[in-house]
Amino acid sequence: MKIACVGGGPAGLYFAVQMARRDDRHEITVYERNPAGVTYGWGVGSSELLAPFATQDPPTAERLAADAFVWSGELVGRQGRGAVERGGDAGDGYCIGRQRLIDILADRARELGVRVENDCEIDPSVLAGQVDLVVASDGLQSRFRQQHAAELGAEVTTGRNRYIWLGTTKVFHRFTFSFVETPAGWLWCHAYGYGEERSTFIVECSPETWRGLGLDSLGVDETLKLLEDAFAELLEGHPLLVQVRDEGVMPWLNFRTVRCDRWHVGNVALMGDAAHTTHFSIGSGTLLALDDAIGLADAVDRHTDLSDALEEYGATRRAAVRLAQREASYSARWLEDVARYMPGDARRFAELHRWRRSPFLAHMPPAAYYLLRRSLDESRLLRSAWRRVTSLRRSRFLRRNAR
Ligand SMILES: Cc1cc2nc3c(=O)[nH]c(=O)nc-3n(C[C@H](O)[C@H](O)[C@H](O)COP(=O)(O)OP(=O)(O)OC[C@H]3O[C@@H](n4cnc5c(N)ncnc54)[C@H](O)[C@@H]3O)c2cc1C
Repeated sequence: MKIACVGGGPAGLYFAVQMARRDDRHEITVYERNPAGVTYGWGVGSSELLAPFATQDPPTAERLAADAFVWSGELVGRQGRGAVERGGDAGDGYCIGRQRLIDILADRARELGVRVENDCEIDPSVLAGQVDLVVASDGLQSRFRQQHAAELGAEVTTGRNRYIWLGTTKVFHRFTFSFVETPAGWLWCHAYGYGEERSTFIVECSPETWRGLGLDSLGVDETLKLLEDAFAELLEGHPLLVQVRDEGVMPWLNFRTVRCDRWHVGNVALMGDAAHTTHFSIGSGTLLALDDAIGLADAVDRHTDLSDALEEYGATRRAAVRLAQREASYSARWLEDVARYMPGDARRFAELHRWRRSPFLAHMPPAAYYLLRRSLDESRLLRSAWRRVTSLRRSRFLRRNAR
């Protein structure tokens, strides 16, 4: 098959790797508009980042495991009101610099005979008549999705909060969520290490706080200074780092959630952020993009007819993404209503934050939800402890009677 992937992010590159591994006769090209070695964003991570590689492409899994930063546990705190740290039960996982992830995938693709063309901005529709399959892996702002919005049933909703994706030289070993009260309202960060010298540091706040602090008009240096001062206790003297695209303009954004009812038109298939996005507070966008790549490669393998493969790919992946999108929307909403969860001690706040993906929390008084959920968790703990005791007793009884 002749295959073109438009967009050399995780989705496009990993689909190219998947197809090249399955059949070295495929002619595959990945077109990426950025020059080699240039991307946006800092580190990305997930507890299951290596999962899509472990069985599907072990050489990539080994390279990622060698370069990835391992985080463990979680810390949730409000300045001046204490923090709660969770260890093993909060899980652990891998984070890696976005550039490093892309370099690893691009090198692996080239090794398998894929052509990776940088500095190459392409309209996927133009390629549709020239190759057998086009993958529009061109990210959140997908040109193809916008051109075919009606046929794809595409819907884009914009979140209320403002956020900015920054980096820092402070290394966070735990996933850290820190909330700071300012005269204009709450400001918070999502911080996690992704290397021995770097962490991702996403700052988020309501639009009222954003305007109230003057963040809508401050320049780059003044904004960084304001944020470094606000998070001084957490940053311990480390600077915040920013990637500026337009000279002098801080890249503040509102998160946009993309949903599509169909994932292909003709022989062009949407993949990754072009087809769906999930709020960054649940950290799963990259993983979903990688799973899309595996899903489409599997479907193309299984069917001789490409349109059957594309139908199956869309149906199975849409179902898989739906749950993550639902959880992400509850999590994003929790952060939009953050003031609602502020009363109470550090433990209550941290637990409510942990349960932010719940569909019920927004519809119940937080205090009632907290008590209910804790008693359910405790009774679950009691039940499992009781089961352990009775099974121990049973096995002792059986041993005694066997003698
Ligand atoms: C603040 C923030 C934090 C995040 N943190 C995490 C995290 O911790 N864990 C996680 O799993 N996910 C995270 N994500 C999500 C993750 O970044 C994306 O889901 C993931 O990058 C999607 O991969 P993709 O390949 O679909 O798209 P992208 O990574 O956006 O790649 C698309 C590529 O297409 C290129 N392109 C676009 N148009 C064209 C064109 N016409 N021609 C050629 N090239 C083109 C772009 O330059 C880009 O390189 C985060 C997202 C945000 C916003």
